[in-house]
Amino acid sequence: MATMTEGPVTALPSLSNEEIARYSRHLLLPEVGMEGQQKLKAARVLCVGTGGLGSPMAFYLAAAGIGTLGLVDFDVVDSSNLQRQIIHSTKDVGRLKIDSAEEKLLALNPYMKIVKYNTLLSSANALEIFKDFDIVADGTDNFPTRYLVNDACVLSGKPNVYGSIFRFEGQASIFATEEGPCYRCLYPEPPPPGLVPSCAEGGVLGILPGLVGVMQATEVIKLILGQGEPLIGRLLLVDSLNMRFRELKLRKNPDCPACGTHPTVTELIDYEQFCGIPPAVQPGAALINGVPQISVTEFKQQRDAGKDYFLLDVREPHEFKIANLGGYLIPLGEIQKRVSELDTSREIVVHCKMGGRSQQAAEALQKLGFKKVQNLAGGIQAWSEKVDPAVPRY
Ligand code: ZN
Repeated sequence: MATMTEGPVTALPSLSNEEIARYSRHLLLPEVGMEGQQKLKAARVLCVGTGGLGSPMAFYLAAAGIGTLGLVDFDVVDSSNLQRQIIHSTKDVGRLKIDSAEEKLLALNPYMKIVKYNTLLSSANALEIFKDFDIVADGTDNFPTRYLVNDACVLSGKPNVYGSIFRFEGQASIFATEEGPCYRCLYPEPPPPGLVPSCAEGGVLGILPGLVGVMQATEVIKLILGQGEPLIGRLLLVDSLNMRFRELKLRKNPDCPACGTHPTVTELIDYEQFCGIPPAVQPGAALINGVPQISVTEFKQQRDAGKDYFLLDVREPHEFKIANLGGYLIPLGEIQKRVSELDTSREIVVHCKMGGRSQQAAEALQKLGFKKVQNLAGGIQAWSEKVDPAVPRY
């Protein structure tokens, strides 16, 4: 950052009269002014993800006059994204997110450059992509990418402007600066598989990423301007349900595996194998952690052929109301104390939304001595896709 805030003024790009008019409300702020606006124009910011957090982040960074904005995303717009990913519209469903985002950003501000990376960020490409940017803003929604972004920021010495959201709660901070802690100072290792529900399983209030993404954009702008007190060494916690903000002090951990005095993370790795990826994303596996997997088509065939399974649904009651397969509902958290309700005379097939929670439930039942338990791979989502499209997807 030092090079950006202390560089000679003459090296900064000049603003056209159109740009001066556009940014006049910034130019009137002594903390921004002409030089600050030129710094914004010179800045190169990478948005990892163009989803819930990336949408407001990229929108406001574009409006503010960031000169070069990189966008990384491999996904296409899905109708279930539109409740929160406001850079995309109904007509964009099925389009690449980076194309949809680019169109909106250039419509807002044609005086900027968009660099698109239509790829899944990985250990193989992260450092190569990061090298052309000054600041990385993390808008990812999963642990593998979050650890990857953090480690790549530590290794390349770029600030990681972090945000995350879950249900009604959000977090923001700035990691991986020279003086401050990194994400691994806080959480040294990724959580074990299946422990953390994904956004798709856990749900999120659509407005929340707007709140957190805008805080991230604010911190990016402040870092570029070198103004104010950045969120370095502070974790801001937002509880939108009760509208409370809290702040935790964070310290650099000398034993941190990434930025500590004897780091063990000296190159990038991919974390899929460690993280909360539901077994649903491993199609075709016959056995996961000792639990037999049954596909939705196979399950349908066997049921049609007269096999009488006990279908156990381990989702939450509010999900059951959205769509169900006529299973017996016991939410995952209540399995242990309600096993007596299970019909042990029949083979049990466990299902949830996508196959992650039901895998956990099946493993728990095996430990409790149930021998004939199978996991419905892909859950009710796969059922809707492959067997009965009349079952709504959510
Ligand atoms: Zn660290």
